[in-house]
Amino acid sequence: MKLKELLEDICKHGIFGTVLAYIYVIEFQKRGLPHAHILLTLDSESKIRTKDDIDKFVNTEFPDPCTDLRLCQIVTKCMVHGPCGTININFSCMRDGHCCKSFPKQFKDDTEENVNGYPIYRRRATETVQVGKYSIDNRWVVPYNLWLLKNFNAHINVEVCASVKSVKYLYKYVYKGHNAASVKIQKEGALDHDAILSFVEGRYVRGPEAMWRLNEFNLSHKSHTIVRLAVHLPQQQPIVYQDGQEAQAIERAALKMIFLTFHQALPPVISTRRYDRRFYSKG
Ligand SMILES: [Zn+2]
Repeated sequence: MKLKELLEDICKHGIFGTVLAYIYVIEFQKRGLPHAHILLTLDSESKIRTKDDIDKFVNTEFPDPCTDLRLCQIVTKCMVHGPCGTININFSCMRDGHCCKSFPKQFKDDTEENVNGYPIYRRRATETVQVGKYSIDNRWVVPYNLWLLKNFNAHINVEVCASVKSVKYLYKYVYKGHNAASVKIQKEGALDHDAILSFVEGRYVRGPEAMWRLNEFNLSHKSHTIVRLAVHLPQQQPIVYQDGQEAQAIERAALKMIFLTFHQALPPVISTRRYDRRFYSKG
């Protein structure tokens, strides 16, 4: 319900502007509830390009508790990373003595657009906030959107992708699936690797994931389907033929609609849905 509401706020009510396309993938961790990775493509009018745009939509600082106590409480509860690093070296993000998500970030007086595909957000050095037994400052805040946080009271990390490089990375990230390792211990000899058996025995499904799958909720969804057309010049599509049957093959090919010739034969204005159905009903 939360996801549906969130997508409606983003896509229908346009809290970030006009959304041209989106994809999302549901991820399950060993602990905690399922969460969604969502990638949005905004139209060029709405694209978040300048420093001011970025500051308007993405926040990486503790709000002033005097002006907005509730928001400050939500940020403290949901949007603080770790803490990890030298003050908590055993935290789950630590790899070889470093945080894999590069926390704590640097203090920064002003947002900087596009540094290697991502902006560097404003994190001013202000007073610290007490989170559990730790004294935390703005360097530990996970980027969030003020409106979403207040409305959903949940961990919602919002970031701006500033170049196509980061979009490519995110597409890979949303489809990567969860982490897994397969280990087999046996006596010396030829290793008999049964991929299906390893999958069945190594699969780990917790309550939230089982619930999600039993209810047949979407594991991923995208607003658009992109199909690569095998482009060719008119009358020059590739044809497969047996020796001595060239003429018949050409005749057959002339009658057969392939994806590209079908596309050309369509009337100029046609909805995607109708297009799909007509194509697939031809088998
Ligand atoms: Zn960390």
